[in-house]
Amino acid sequence: MIAAANGIKLIDTEGNEFFDGVSSLWVNIHGHRKAAIDEAIVRQLGQVAHTTMLGLANLPAYELAGQLVGITPAGLNRVFYSDDGSTAVEVALKMAFQYWRHQGKPDKQKFISLEQAYHGDTVGTVSVGGIDLFHRVFKPLLFTPVHIPAPSCYHCRLAADPAECGLKCAAVLEQVLAEQHEEVAGLIIEPLVQAAAGMLMSPPGYLAKVREITRKYDVLLIADEVATGFGRTGTMFACEQEAVAPDLMALSKGITGGYMPLAATLTTDEVYNAFLGDYAAKKTFYHGHSYTGNPLACAAALANLRIFREEKVIEGLGPKIAAIADRLAEMAVLAHVGQVRQCGLIVGIELMLDKSKKVPYSWEQAAGASVCRQARKYGLIIRPIGDVVVFMPPLASTVAEINTMLAIIKRSVTEVTAADWADDGL
Ligand code: PMP
Repeated sequence: MIAAANGIKLIDTEGNEFFDGVSSLWVNIHGHRKAAIDEAIVRQLGQVAHTTMLGLANLPAYELAGQLVGITPAGLNRVFYSDDGSTAVEVALKMAFQYWRHQGKPDKQKFISLEQAYHGDTVGTVSVGGIDLFHRVFKPLLFTPVHIPAPSCYHCRLAADPAECGLKCAAVLEQVLAEQHEEVAGLIIEPLVQAAAGMLMSPPGYLAKVREITRKYDVLLIADEVATGFGRTGTMFACEQEAVAPDLMALSKGITGGYMPLAATLTTDEVYNAFLGDYAAKKTFYHGHSYTGNPLACAAALANLRIFREEKVIEGLGPKIAAIADRLAEMAVLAHVGQVRQCGLIVGIELMLDKSKKVPYSWEQAAGASVCRQARKYGLIIRPIGDVVVFMPPLASTVAEINTMLAIIKRSVTEVTAADWADDGL
């Protein structure tokens, strides 16, 4: 039970302090109680806390839209607000679907998504999701996407050798689109890292290849940067790392630095213009939420972006990313660590009962959960995804704090996966 917070630490009702090793689910990138964001919200309270975006606008929402356009990949010039990652993606899916109707191509209705994808918990986002555990119960309620293999070399379903496969997983996409592109509205992807799948990371070149193929076949590319956005991968957005400009981009989580629920779906002039016309043309995009463009949330987001600029947050990430890489190299040799994965300040440590034969622990052993429980004893909050221990510390963490947190993880993994425990089960 959390009662308070201070910097990158959470404090429970008994006064115990914990490092927030998951940035309170990716969002508190500057830590907690960041004075500049506190003050921005208080200042905005003195102006107006809420008003509708139906037929009106407000100053923080207007200014934020301009700044988001300025920092996202080229061509993303239009901003549509909503409240969380799921709605940002839901908006992108609906926009892409409706766009093709206005373009006179109503047959373009399908979506392509990755196996093991996670894009949110609303019905549309669950439809394009691919995590059986979360999504299977809702199957009768969903539309069906075309799934392509997750580009994860450690778990490659195509049994390809990453050294020489030449991105076989992307070749599958090319095949699918060669046959079906006239029916496909868009492809949705978590760029570089499939987060909820257990931090599965795509090989270099995959994202750029997906952009090339979707462009060739006239399919909209939707980048779900809900988790990867706002510095998490080492650049402001993951797409930058492969010089990819998507047609739509979903943002949330870090957008307000962990203060208020807010999301944005960005798109191009081309998509935006397809919705223009007089009322009789019936081109309106009928989607809006009560809190859309909330001024307090937008004021927090503006303060967040100011911190990025003034504190040179991205420029300061290099030594932190290097420290993580060093500590992970030490962990990779542990007996039950199958693979360590890192992209910027995103980490997945995959545990294996037998790492040489890639035999996982049984569900009942709950190895990942046990490691996270152990880490809590040593003052660190982290979470498991199955047997992948995930770690995404605040970007504001110092190198010393990162080293301390990873030392706790190493100790917890070592203790929990000690031979007698692994042999006997729980
Ligand atoms: N997309 C991705 C890639 C996510 O990781 C998440 C949340 N974990 C979402 C969408 C959904 O965001 P929210 O939980 O804010 O609805």
